[in-house]
Amino acid sequence: MSSQRPRIGLTGGIASGKSTVASLLAERGALIIDADRIVRELQEPGGAGLAAIVEAFGPAMLTPEGQLDRAALGALVFADDQARERLNGLIHPLVRAEAAARLAAAPAEQLVVEDIPLLVETGQAPSFDEVIVVQAPLEVRLSRMERDRGMSREQALGRIQAQASDEERAAVATQLIINDAGLPELEAQVRALWGRLLASREG
Ligand code: ADP
Repeated sequence: MSSQRPRIGLTGGIASGKSTVASLLAERGALIIDADRIVRELQEPGGAGLAAIVEAFGPAMLTPEGQLDRAALGALVFADDQARERLNGLIHPLVRAEAAARLAAAPAEQLVVEDIPLLVETGQAPSFDEVIVVQAPLEVRLSRMERDRGMSREQALGRIQAQASDEERAAVATQLIINDAGLPELEAQVRALWGRLLASREG
């Protein structure tokens, strides 16, 4: 029997309910390692990510206060595919290293769930024992993005289409959560999922 903890990833398209599932898992005792939050922390002054960005793209990426100039970086990588790939090549290994360090520091008995929005897009599925995928109907996601993110329908659809498709995510899922009803139904699914995760760890 291996004493190694299973690697559990959580992903889902934008506005599918992934963050809600992460919170529900945290309530049950999971440690959530949030890839987006790690990116933001790496990009704070003093962070390795910000240093790498300035080294690659120059001091124009900084505000006068020494913060990341998100607008400048956004404009650069939006206009230039090579720059975007270079940025990803710099940031993703740093995020993975930080996630690995947090994983190593967690108590052995705690379930750790790595919340990675672009898990499928970045080809990471094979490194996980469990891939939890959250899906919701397109119409529901579009309405949420219009409501919560102030996007037009076209913008929302563009964001969804820039990500992996439901089929691509479902193809690598070991645990599929279909979030097509209310919060009580989602909670019930997460409760059942939690039971399966505990059982597979003990199995
Ligand atoms: P994601 O992290 O996938 O972008 P969130 O978990 O932030 O999505 O969910 C987007 C919005 O939809 C949030 O306001 C959340 O509270 C809401 N939401 C998610 N699932 C449900 C549900 N089953 N019923 C009602 N609202 C939900």
